[in-house]
Amino acid sequence: MKEKLEEIKVEAERELKAVSDETALQNIKAKFVGRKGVITEILKGMREVPESERPQMGQLVNEVKQFIEGLFDKRFEEIKEEKKKHILLTERVDITLPGRGVPLGAKHPITQVMEEIVAILERMGFEVAEGPEVELDYYNFEALNMPKDHPARDMQDTFYISDEIVLRTHTSPVQIRVMEKQKPPIKIIAPGKVYRCDSDVSHSPMFHQVEGLLVDENVTFGDLKGVLSEFVRLMFGPQIGFRLRPSFFPFTEPSAEVDIKCVICEGKGCRVCKNSGWLEIGGCGMVDPEVFKSVNYDPERYTGFAFGVGVERITMLKFGINDIRLFFENGIRFLKQFS
Ligand SMILES: [Zn+2]
Repeated sequence: MKEKLEEIKVEAERELKAVSDETALQNIKAKFVGRKGVITEILKGMREVPESERPQMGQLVNEVKQFIEGLFDKRFEEIKEEKKKHILLTERVDITLPGRGVPLGAKHPITQVMEEIVAILERMGFEVAEGPEVELDYYNFEALNMPKDHPARDMQDTFYISDEIVLRTHTSPVQIRVMEKQKPPIKIIAPGKVYRCDSDVSHSPMFHQVEGLLVDENVTFGDLKGVLSEFVRLMFGPQIGFRLRPSFFPFTEPSAEVDIKCVICEGKGCRVCKNSGWLEIGGCGMVDPEVFKSVNYDPERYTGFAFGVGVERITMLKFGINDIRLFFENGIRFLKQFS
């Protein structure tokens, strides 16, 4: 029996050394010291050992059992350590690599250009005024010299909420609201959203305007031209060509369209400017005396000018964008170009 135990010791030692993973190790443990293991078998055989030798033999068996268990624990720790080393080696992270960048958001191109327009005009002394987007017919049309049967109403494809309420078709009603509350001198700009029932590559049912109004004694058309030429120069650069072209608006007299030299062909003529060499960016004129009458200003004493520019139009010309709908489709690749 003694020899048998010695053999078991040697065998266990050899097998434990050869093993390299935890499952196999547990199997070996079961084989030697488990409930159905070799040692248990030996203990069963104790009955045949003479009674006088039993205590001694029992002690020996226990020693061998403890020896094997000790070996097992040691090997178990070794395998754990090897496994840890292996993980550290294969799953190594290079902490000196730069991290992934977090993309930053940016202002929408329309907002950027709107803010630039407002900033330029504020430097000239204009103050920002606001009005409602859902507007009374009176402010949007009637007070601006467009009574209900006026043919000029057809020029503006209006969204009607009811007979008396519309989505404002221009920022001009803000002029009336300001003049009703204030006496001249008045020097305001009204940036904001306007609505017209129209949609194609150059029209959107919602778009943005910036309106300007200056009213005082002795204001002339020369003052208007001075403000607009300075605005255009600051917006598009000092070399840009600029002209006023006679036109008609019911609320200004005389009226003019504001044109700049074509930014694409520089005046030579191209598809964008329809070979004219010029591009329209807005309208302007001297405030019609009829408008002054509707806000109880004395047209004999006061004169003034008003102008309005399209923000989408200016943004398209500034960045060479050929479809207005791109502004409202929220395409990330399109918007990223303006960050
Ligand atoms: Zn052109």
